[in-house]
Amino acid sequence: MSLIVQKYGGTSVGTPERILLVARRMAGDEIVVVVSAMSGVTDNLIGLARQVAEHPSEREMDMLLATGEQTTIALTAMAINALGGKAVSLTGAQAGIVTDGVHTKAKIANITPKRIHRLLEDGHIVIVAGFQGESLDGHITTLGRGGSDLTAIALAAALGADLCQICTDVDGVYTADPRSVHKARKIAEVSYDEMLEMSSLGSKVMQSRAVEFAKKFGVIFEVRSSFNDEPGTIVKAETSGMEKVVIRGVSVDRRQAKVTVNRVPDRPGVASRIFTAIAGAGINVDMIVQNVSADGSTDISFTTHSDELPKINRLLGPLVGEIGAQSFSAQGGIAKLSVVGIGMRSHSGVAAKMFELLGEAGINIQMITTSEIKISVIVDEDRVDEGANLVHSGFGLAEEAPRLAKSVVS
Ligand code: ADP
Ligand code: ASP
Ligand code: MG
Repeated sequence: MSLIVQKYGGTSVGTPERILLVARRMAGDEIVVVVSAMSGVTDNLIGLARQVAEHPSEREMDMLLATGEQTTIALTAMAINALGGKAVSLTGAQAGIVTDGVHTKAKIANITPKRIHRLLEDGHIVIVAGFQGESLDGHITTLGRGGSDLTAIALAAALGADLCQICTDVDGVYTADPRSVHKARKIAEVSYDEMLEMSSLGSKVMQSRAVEFAKKFGVIFEVRSSFNDEPGTIVKAETSGMEKVVIRGVSVDRRQAKVTVNRVPDRPGVASRIFTAIAGAGINVDMIVQNVSADGSTDISFTTHSDELPKINRLLGPLVGEIGAQSFSAQGGIAKLSVVGIGMRSHSGVAAKMFELLGEAGINIQMITTSEIKISVIVDEDRVDEGANLVHSGFGLAEEAPRLAKSVVS
């Protein structure tokens, strides 16, 4: 009998009917099922917290957010039992998932799955709460948004599972988000590095930390539909054939903001002052561009998530004067558009082609960054979908018969 770890995301367990659908899929094999909170529940809990406290403690946040997944494990186990199966639910802590103490984005330190093994031997289907664990000193922790993916991959590694399936509301990983790029196609196989770039560049079909974990421990996994039995996308280590595809996919990261500090004195230590202050406020910075110096001063621009704008404004107001810069501007309404593919390593001209496609459509590029396997540009958010569709078609990703992702649930 093979041991399978399956993860069902929020939409897949979003209603009692869907939980029953998932419960009906459990048959044969030794199965460990990881479930997320019902869709919208985690966001609602965050909203509730904000109504009672402006800055709730992260420990209490984790206590609160973990309840979302605790609801679904119990309901899923009940549904399986009601259909004549034999299931038992476990919280992250009960499943033996031990993390560090960094609340709201804890890292898994180790997993002791003794209890899961015992329950499986006893013929149970084991339902584990995704997204949560317990710190060494006994506090409930959570693993960052989308963290149920990480729970599933880590459990698959710890249990030595034969199969790890990430079941979701699309048929697999597509060449772009099928909700906004209608000619997107399902990818049969993708390398860890490509999946990692796509996830971190905005393709939220997989949590990027989960992909990182899978790469580190060599966990081969499949992203597939919760609602049909079509083969999905296999994510695994790079094979020689994979390099033949220059662009694997197009990713979009919305709700970005661009901040520019104008006429910064061109002296050692000034950039450090700015970014130390920003890091100290817990703000994540993405792209950073410093212009050529003229008249002993330079402009420094960076991007961040637009939710950070109020903090940025509070912080940079006084800092600009202190470092002798002239002014700063901070505005949202931009998005990052990226193309990803390991084939780029051995092909030139990819950036030029991307810029040409956007230029012909009159889409202005505000910033550019590249790595060995990706090119990202910042454009106006209201043109990013148009840009994504153009770039997707321009690189031939839509070439096979165009079709809508049939299983996309809106
Ligand atoms: P779950 O709740 O199952 O974890 P998510 O909402 O986190 O599901 O991820 C699935 C969603 O990811 C899809 O509905 C799709 O809109 C989006 N998505 C973004 N980029 C891609 C892509 N390249 N391929 C497939 N889905 C994508
Ligand atoms: N419920 C958590 C979230 O919404 C974890 C997950 O869905 O994977 O981020
Ligand atoms: Mg998800």
